[in-house]
Amino acid sequence: MPRLYHSTRSNEHSVTSKQAILDGIASDGGLYISDSLLDLTINLEDACRRDYHGLARLILEALLPDFSPEEIARCVGAAYGPQFDTPAITPLVPVGDDWMLELWHGPTCAFKDVALQMLPQLMSCAREELSPATKIMIVTATSGDTGKAALEGFAQLPDMGVAVFYPHEGVSDIQRLQMVTQQGNNVSVCGIRGNFDDAQTEVKHIFADEKLAQRLHAKRLALSSANSINVGRLVPQVVYYFAAYKQLCEHRAIKLGDPVEFCVPTGNFGNVLAGYYAKQLGLPISRLIVASNINDVLVDLILSGVYNRLRSFNKSLSPSMDILVSSNLERLLYYLSDGDTTLVAKLMDRLERKGSYTLPSSLRSRVQELFCAGRATDEETQATIKQVWEHHHQLIDTHTAVALHVLQKQKRTQGVARVCLSTANPYKFPAAVLEALGQSSEGLDGFGCMHALQAYTHSPIPHPLAELHNLSVRHHDIVERTDMSSYVEASAERLLS
Ligand SMILES: *Cc1c(COP(=O)(O)O)cnc(C)c1O
Repeated sequence: MPRLYHSTRSNEHSVTSKQAILDGIASDGGLYISDSLLDLTINLEDACRRDYHGLARLILEALLPDFSPEEIARCVGAAYGPQFDTPAITPLVPVGDDWMLELWHGPTCAFKDVALQMLPQLMSCAREELSPATKIMIVTATSGDTGKAALEGFAQLPDMGVAVFYPHEGVSDIQRLQMVTQQGNNVSVCGIRGNFDDAQTEVKHIFADEKLAQRLHAKRLALSSANSINVGRLVPQVVYYFAAYKQLCEHRAIKLGDPVEFCVPTGNFGNVLAGYYAKQLGLPISRLIVASNINDVLVDLILSGVYNRLRSFNKSLSPSMDILVSSNLERLLYYLSDGDTTLVAKLMDRLERKGSYTLPSSLRSRVQELFCAGRATDEETQATIKQVWEHHHQLIDTHTAVALHVLQKQKRTQGVARVCLSTANPYKFPAAVLEALGQSSEGLDGFGCMHALQAYTHSPIPHPLAELHNLSVRHHDIVERTDMSSYVEASAERLLS
């Protein structure tokens, strides 16, 4: 009897994990979850003897039971190969008395790679089994990091294509160049005249357009999404919590079985939710610390039990965490309410219609038993970058700095090792990091900032960012928001017919 997935908002309809990965989101708007998470256990001793590939196979086989071990092994081999610049995939490094888990050694230098190198492999495998005659077009709106990671993940996969929309004037120089130089004959990249929300809203309309779906269906084409609520993005992130634990043991910072705390720079709640999954699977995590920037809706939720998205949206120095609706939180509410789909549906409905909800007090207490939270302003973020550079000679990016600031403010528990997740290479945000170190970025473009930062710190520019200079621009398209739908249709036909 295969263990199945169903919606957080109803348990009437169950699907295999392959189907859940192809669907992305459940048909009632809920997220796919599996109740088997609550009775699965990973053997810690076994886990700590494995390399990253071995660990990934162990966790993926447990959480995606309808994939065969051979399929999983193939996906793991393809996802975590030489496109990562270290075989450790997610190396652990000391920072003072604490540790940082570096999640940015993949092809786009941000943590999204760990999931977005794997999701396309899983999706491709699921497509071959469940709908081999249909080709799939991935459509994604990006504020910067996700777009490039999706392009890298899906480029060159047979019978799949990917279209990425970014706000023409809303991403950094480096982020834009990363996307418009993308190679591969199944990719299209397009700027839109509008902001990220415009792009995101229009992508949702495209997915809801039944006439478009029918026209594509007639040509044996279907649309899908690489959004972070996909089970196929969540599950691969569970692996590195175990990888961190194993490395702590190797460094003799802990003994097998000792408790550990993780502090996670949080936006859509995918990364930290994977930590909760790791804990459910038996990893001895005593606390998960949610770190927010000034968009601190999750900090308020955890401290007060009230989620309120009706507040001003602030642009911060850590843009990948500028978010007011953290979609993956819905999965946590499902598990912590003991699978109360009616309650979850009611809270999500309130959030959508009224803009806020309040957790019942029992649920609030359970959230507070497991999680604590803190925030960092832009000034605190910059001060942390400077302090870590001056005291430890380590260069960190703005997102990591938010988490490290929050971690440093927490009271230390004697004998508990602490790990801060590091989510981007500092050269992805070179202007902000340069300024934080007290150096001016005035008059410098993205490359200028990268080189000034390298001259000042002698820290190496990662290869995929350094080589951007030599790549030619392959994608020139810019469209109005209203033309996105026809752009997707034309791209699907051009790339996949
Ligand atoms: C996406 C992202 C985050 C936020 O992760 P979530 O899973 O959305 O909480 C943090 N840092 C960086 C650099 C990111 O790209």
